[in-house]
Amino acid sequence: MKLVSFSAADGAVRPGALLPNNTVIDLGQDYVNALAVIAAGLSVAPDGPAHPLDQVKLHAPVINPPRIFAIGLNYRDHARESGMAIPTTPVIFFKLTTAIIGPGEAIVLPKNSTEPDYEAEFAFVIGKGGYRIPASSWRDHVYGYTIVNDVSARDVQFSSTQWSMSKSFPTFCPLGPAIVTADEIADPHELAISLTIDGVEHQSSNTRELVFKIPDLIEYLSSITPLLPGDIISTGTPYGVGLGRNPKRWLKHGESVTVTVEGLGSLTNPVVAE
Ligand code: ZN
Repeated sequence: MKLVSFSAADGAVRPGALLPNNTVIDLGQDYVNALAVIAAGLSVAPDGPAHPLDQVKLHAPVINPPRIFAIGLNYRDHARESGMAIPTTPVIFFKLTTAIIGPGEAIVLPKNSTEPDYEAEFAFVIGKGGYRIPASSWRDHVYGYTIVNDVSARDVQFSSTQWSMSKSFPTFCPLGPAIVTADEIADPHELAISLTIDGVEHQSSNTRELVFKIPDLIEYLSSITPLLPGDIISTGTPYGVGLGRNPKRWLKHGESVTVTVEGLGSLTNPVVAE
């Protein structure tokens, strides 16, 4: 099932199931929001009132996850282009949930950053929570998968040793377009991932290149904090960010950024200056 959040003519945001025939089943009768769908573990779309996809607006698939964990330097080639060592312990930071936007919504470049950058990322969403989850049980705890653009203000990021705030300006967490339930993805560690700006490819890799994979990340994170239904873990970005280019390149007003992950669709956001 592809879990989305959508609004129709009345403007209310409701959870939905996006079907292959481009209709959206309204799950709003039974679930208050997408987080409730995730907590219930729903992975098969029930019958219900349907809307044509082209007559609804898609929002971020979940707008109120408990937390967004993000993993730094989790592709070898990206660690190298950042001038950093490949970590032996996962590098964890947070994106504040107030940064979330949905497909098609604008990334707003804040006037107090001169170095806004993109990061294509594959993310997984916790279904059943738990504390001290062994790596071998990871499949019991993953509800599904989605796409994150981990937009990052590099000047803010490297002005201190703490990265979270640089990645948490409003609109810096494009998310979606859907959360694809785990049953639809045979091997999440074998998915092509890419990013284009105005149709030109800037990042291209595969989740098989992840340093710390989903089982490792679940075991590590849950050894410290109980994981909660709806927690999003964005697994890091591959080679090709603006920071790693020569010359460096930053997001500019008027550009359009698309992140694509095999099996999960594409997430496109225009870029505007504040
Ligand atoms: Zn990142």
